[in-house]
Order: sequence, then C-alpha cells, then structure tokens
Amino acid sequence: MRYCKNCGLLAPQDADRCPQCGAPLPPLPAQAPVASSGPHYHEPKPTGVPALSEGATLATLLLFSIPIAGFILSLAWSFGFTHNPARRRLAQAWLIRTLIIAVIVTALAIWLALMFAAAMSNPYYYYAF
Ligand SMILES: [Zn+2]
Repeated sequence: MRYCKNCGLLAPQDADRCPQCGAPLPPLPAQAPVASSGPHYHEPKPTGVPALSEGATLATLLLFSIPIAGFILSLAWSFGFTHNPARRRLAQAWLIRTLIIAVIVTALAIWLALMFAAAMSNPYYYYAF
C-alpha cells in the first residue's frame, strides 16, 4: 500500500494514479527478486583431466624409461604432440622429474669432479681424513 502525496489517501499497491484525486503515484521501488529456494550455487565445472587407465599409464611410463627415446617422447608429449590431455600431463610430470634428477646428477658429478681435482692438486688432501 502507498500513500498519495497529494491527498494522503492510501492507494492500492497496483494503482498508478490516486483513485481519489487522480494524482500520479510515485513509481514502485524496484522489487527485490523473489528469493528462490536456497542460494544459487554454480556447479563447479570439472577441471580435472580424466586420468589414463592403469595399463596406459604403465605403458607410458615404460616408454619413458627408455633412455633417450623415452626422454624425447616425454618432451614431445609435454608440448602437445598428443591429443590425450592425461597423457600430456603425465609426460609433463615425467619431464619435470627427469629434469630434477638431471640437475641433481649434474650437481653431484660437478661436486665429485671438484673433489677429485682437489685431491689431485693437493698432496695433503689424503691426510685430511
Ligand atoms: Zn490522491
């Protein structure tokens, strides 16, 4: 119900003019949308990639284990030379793992080489222990 500003009559909600004096009634305030049953939760879109089957994963890992060909294969699949997103993800994981191992092995090799060089250049090195 609204009051007419002109004559003070209580006008019905749906009237656009006062029934007594005919003065235009102020427009209704924008009605809040009727709350539907419960809050709206958007269904989370599935972002996960369906995993490869166990057999396919095993076969892929076996392929990757081949010394040089496997590395090239994982490199190729990491950069999208496969239409299977799960395979690409597996290849990327493998590639990261391979690179980490390569860094560790390289660091170890450098450390051993330095130790060896130090041992060779310092005759007192052996007495240090
Ligand atoms: Zn009125």
